[in-house]
Amino acid sequence: MRESSILVTIAITILASLGAAAIDSKKIDAEVAAITKSAILIDTHNDIPSFTVDGTDIGNAPKNHTDIPRLRQGGVGAVFFAAYVDAKYVNGNHSANRTLQMIDTIYHDIIQRYSNDFMLALTADDIERAHRKGKIAALIGIEGGHAIEDSPRLLRDYYRLGVRYMTLTHVNTNNWADSSGDIDDANIAHHKGLTPLGKDIVREMNRLGMMVDISHVADKTFYDALETSEAPLIASHSSCRAVTNAPRNMTDDMIVALAKKGGVIQINFYCNFISQKAADSVANLHLSERSRDLQKQYANDPAKLKAELDALAGEEKRAQVRATLDDVVAHIDHVRQIAGIDAIGIGSDFDGITCAPVGLDDVSKFPNLTRALLEKGYSESDIKKIYGGNTLRLMRQVEKVAASSH
Ligand SMILES: [Zn+2]
Repeated sequence: MRESSILVTIAITILASLGAAAIDSKKIDAEVAAITKSAILIDTHNDIPSFTVDGTDIGNAPKNHTDIPRLRQGGVGAVFFAAYVDAKYVNGNHSANRTLQMIDTIYHDIIQRYSNDFMLALTADDIERAHRKGKIAALIGIEGGHAIEDSPRLLRDYYRLGVRYMTLTHVNTNNWADSSGDIDDANIAHHKGLTPLGKDIVREMNRLGMMVDISHVADKTFYDALETSEAPLIASHSSCRAVTNAPRNMTDDMIVALAKKGGVIQINFYCNFISQKAADSVANLHLSERSRDLQKQYANDPAKLKAELDALAGEEKRAQVRATLDDVVAHIDHVRQIAGIDAIGIGSDFDGITCAPVGLDDVSKFPNLTRALLEKGYSESDIKKIYGGNTLRLMRQVEKVAASSH
């Protein structure tokens, strides 16, 4: 072959493959659009209520990860809004007060203020009903078991107000459950998992039909909850420890055990939970210890405390290496490999995290994840399971256990 004809052949081959790539990418565009439209994407952990409670308008909140136009753009079908109760409310016994304020902002500032966009959902059927009406299903999950102030009566009140999951702990060990957040702190009195009251609370959640959420708990608390609970457990916003070493993430053994009983791990997007590089970039700043010390040191000087915490946040921001969309996919892939497609969900933690992955910067970017999963070989039905099918199945099982108990 003469050189010129070799060049022609090469050129034709390149053009042909470019054409194929263009057709492929068009095909994937169409698939992304179809899935965005038809899947009921359920994000099981979103912290925007921590901002709406102080006046942020979810109708338009450009400084946050979440607002209505971007939820629509992202094709989000249902959101578990977090009624997050900071551990500081334990001091002086203000946890229940704070919980009620947070539940109110979800009703008053989100669902009622924007009733054309949101519909309160209490069951799996409600989520599907909202989707059929073109509305975003709004659900309520309590973050921090101290919210019940050790009383099953408050737990029942919260259920009546529409709460459908509760994390047994936040970063603080409470009177009946150990947290992963302070498990290494020798100054804290730990229980080796759940106390007898803690086990009663899990059983009462089963009886009511409130999901038992094991995100944030210590490993032993997880195993105690798994053994005690008749219904499957949810990890509303947790990732994999084998991929990124954080005590907040679940070990392979925990994920497999969770899945065996029908539970779902909803992947958390926080940079430091999904990328070792990101986690290592701020590890030597000892942020949580320093923040804890500052809160003790300036407990009676809120202005100074805020200034010091802002300075610490600045240090964090300067050092933080961001995770990427591929890191989220790696965690999803890991769960699929060890526990199967039926164990995976999405719990972004948007507006509760100080760093979101590049490519999944806010709630509008979910179609990027859809594309990445399709390119990785996930089928439409796989993606629909991850995006909500598995969560609906889990919710229905929790509802069934409640219906069969008295
Ligand atoms: Zn959390």
